[in-house]
Amino acid sequence: MAEPKQGSSLSRSKIRRSKFIAKIPTLIRCQHCKEKILPHRICQFCGFYRGKEILAPKTITAKNKKAEKIKEKVEKIKKEG
Ligand SMILES: [Zn+2]
Repeated sequence: MAEPKQGSSLSRSKIRRSKFIAKIPTLIRCQHCKEKILPHRICQFCGFYRGKEILAPKTITAKNKKAEKIKEKVEKIKKEG
């Protein structure tokens, strides 16, 4: 494989890595239960999408825990700035 002629400087590496920042996801309010959810996705809390029930609440219990974890992470990131 081809090798680079010169190594990149620490400054160049830092400029490149400055784009790898985690972004806070855009959240909207669910029309049904008013929980904060990701746009264009079925609500993880009530299973509704655009006013229709898509998933039964039983099938999303595991996902509810996941959604809560994501929520906590988002709040942590927001606190840190
Ligand atoms: Zn909902």
